Amino acid sequence: MTVSEIIIVGDTPGLEWRLPVFHFKGSEPEAPRTYIQSALHANELPGTALLHFLLERLRQAGSEGGILGDITVVPQANPIGSAQSHFGDLQGRFDLGTRTNFNRDFPLIALGERPGLVEDIDRHTAADRLKRRLLHMALGAELVLDLHCDDEGLQYAYLDEAFWPEAADLAAALDMQAVFLSDGESSAFEEAVAYAWKHEGAGERKTLLQGRLSVTVELRGTRDVYPDMARKDADGLYRFLAGRGVVAADRQPLPAFGGVVAPLDNIEMVRAPESGAILFHRDIGESVKAGDLLATIITRPGMADGAMEVRAPQDGLIVTRVSTRFARRLSDLMKIACAGPSRAARKPGTLEA
Ligand SMILES: [Zn+2]
Repeated sequence: MTVSEIIIVGDTPGLEWRLPVFHFKGSEPEAPRTYIQSALHANELPGTALLHFLLERLRQAGSEGGILGDITVVPQANPIGSAQSHFGDLQGRFDLGTRTNFNRDFPLIALGERPGLVEDIDRHTAADRLKRRLLHMALGAELVLDLHCDDEGLQYAYLDEAFWPEAADLAAALDMQAVFLSDGESSAFEEAVAYAWKHEGAGERKTLLQGRLSVTVELRGTRDVYPDMARKDADGLYRFLAGRGVVAADRQPLPAFGGVVAPLDNIEMVRAPESGAILFHRDIGESVKAGDLLATIITRPGMADGAMEVRAPQDGLIVTRVSTRFARRLSDLMKIACAGPSRAARKPGTLEA
């Protein structure tokens, strides 16, 4: 294992960020190359904990000659976001200087244009230089995992249907309860990687990308950072890597993935009709029927008609829930994965800003 450092010079004098990058050299040239990062949204730490334990296992494997494919790991991918504390609250999702989501606005390029990402890189702001460095590393691999988490959530993932159902091995290895098939219409990191692969050759657009994977893994919720959970997830990820021939291990067959698979059109984004205190009646992991009471919003406390009910638009599995108990008008409350498309209009791209 070697550790290198990417230095991102700040946009103001006297400031720079240092980003440790862990490299493992594989012994088999034909084995897939892997890139894994976490905490691109800097306040999402389950992946950082997972990678701490995964790196321990990879170091062990390395000392025993068990690394077959090249592996690059960035356990804390966003030092810019980690440093953004606003009145005591970590603001890790948006760049405070530009209001840009750290997981949007990745350049959509063809794979052949990869060298251009880091050419003349000083023309770009610090946040964009960080994005270009990360994407450049990822496009040197065949297996790319971007580890995030939701607010309160089950274990689930976003990936392009070009990787499905091949990626059911990852879903099984990480005990996922749902997989959301993204529509290829956003500039999130995982979609920028898939975009580059789809446009690998001039003029062609691939719809199936076998042997490759680009995925946003949602490792439950922001507070689900515990030693046992992180170790279990690291073991799961290691088994996935073993199954794909990246590391040597007894290839125990993985269990079949038994979770829900839903395109983004089948996700009901349940929103608060009015502002108020949120009283949830149902939790993540519960299956609901159309019309079931999900939450009460106390819009005018103390008034006889001061509360509103929020009900399930159709049958489905509650995958996520917000952790705040105060709703702004039309703010998100839950994501429910359903068998049929939502009747609510959805713009192409990601579910959330
Ligand atoms: Zn995230």
